Amino acid sequence: MTKTIIEPFKIKMVEPLHLTREEDRREILKKAGYNLFLVKAQNILIDLLTDSGTSAMSSEQWAGMMRGDESYAGASSFYKFEEAIRSITGFRYIIPTHQGRAAERILFGTINVKDKFVLNNTHFDTTRANIEYLGGTAVDLPIPEARIPSDEFPFKGNMDVSLLKSFIQEKGRDKISLVMLTITNNSGGGQPVSLQNVKEVSAVCKSSGIPFFLDACRFAENCYLIKEREPGYSSKTVKEIAQELFSYADGCTMSAKKDGLANIGGFLALNDENLAIQEKNLLILTEGFPTYGGLAGRDLEAIAQGLIEVLDEDYLNYRIASIRYLQNGFEKAGIPTVKPPGGHAVYIDSRAFLPHISPEQFPGQALVCELYVKGGIRAVEVGSLMFGKKQSDGKEILPALDLVRLAIPRRVYTQSHIDYVIEIGEEIAKHKEKTRGLKLIYESPFLRHFTAKLEPLF
Ligand SMILES: *Cc1c(COP(=O)(O)O)cnc(C)c1O
Repeated sequence: MTKTIIEPFKIKMVEPLHLTREEDRREILKKAGYNLFLVKAQNILIDLLTDSGTSAMSSEQWAGMMRGDESYAGASSFYKFEEAIRSITGFRYIIPTHQGRAAERILFGTINVKDKFVLNNTHFDTTRANIEYLGGTAVDLPIPEARIPSDEFPFKGNMDVSLLKSFIQEKGRDKISLVMLTITNNSGGGQPVSLQNVKEVSAVCKSSGIPFFLDACRFAENCYLIKEREPGYSSKTVKEIAQELFSYADGCTMSAKKDGLANIGGFLALNDENLAIQEKNLLILTEGFPTYGGLAGRDLEAIAQGLIEVLDEDYLNYRIASIRYLQNGFEKAGIPTVKPPGGHAVYIDSRAFLPHISPEQFPGQALVCELYVKGGIRAVEVGSLMFGKKQSDGKEILPALDLVRLAIPRRVYTQSHIDYVIEIGEEIAKHKEKTRGLKLIYESPFLRHFTAKLEPLF
């Protein structure tokens, strides 16, 4: 094998990037209140805000778009979609939705979460919000290693099984409506969950009679990391690993905007017939008929094909290598990151990188601004701005970590784009003491990071 891992595709269609100058970006950032969510995409050079819905589709996916069967009921595109999902997950009932959160809403709308608990390694924010909206409580039970950015444990996405057991014992089985595992654990640094952990969590749920679901958005990346890191799986195919992993669960929710390699879509899949009937009824009410569920036939085709391509091991090898490459580049430049590399993004530990900026002055957001001014790069803060809450006395309750996430869209950027991002990182690291903190001048009552306005401190 050669040392160089190449992008396993060639480019058939191109989209121009918009080059801007540093002076212009300073002005744009100021106008946007130092909040990158408020900057127009055309003013971004390398957009690493999210890997969700930002994948490049293949020629086969585009061909599928043309073949899409737009029949209201029983479209052939639905059966292709159903077959692609069933061959990986083995679940009996496959329910299409317009994206992941719609699958969550339908699941929680039918399993009764009111005054009950849902347990997860770490809930993604839409999952948590859907549970809380219906009167349930979302509880995160990650292993302790997950909270230490420098810890090299290979499966930092795992759930703490002894905490799970004691939680069930303390609250009583009837108080827990569902246990979930998010693979990979997005809010916990994109870290994978081991098959061993999936088996253990599944066994605890079976013995207590609690349903066990997967939040499967990045199942292929998780399974590739199992192949690389977990003893006993190196000679299995990623598809075989995925099939084994899903066999331990009663169902899953999925955003096809991630490992579906599509720009929109999602699904809910499960084995329980009664629940599936109720869910299809709710689907008809809010998404659409069960053979399209809020999607066009062409979208179902793109997802069916995307799910085949995402299990291609040359693709996954390149995908995981590209994350590792960016992470190594940052580490060499003295930029501390969450270790080991995860499946879809690199997370910078900005509190450790910019110790001269106190957490009240948003070190993560300060770095996000610097990446934009110096390089036109858009990243996202996952820290004090996103999770901090102002108390009535005006003081902030701050989260444990201030991270900056650089999520890599699938099959979109080449290695030279990533080299450019590393070079900008090196440049910032050289003069990092010049980076200034920020203060909030406007915030909304919830999810404040989307609309907040800030100002630099002098
Ligand atoms: C993106 C995501 C979701 C929600 O999916 P949408 O398609 O954005 O609605 C749920 N869970 C995880 C882990 C995600 O990353």
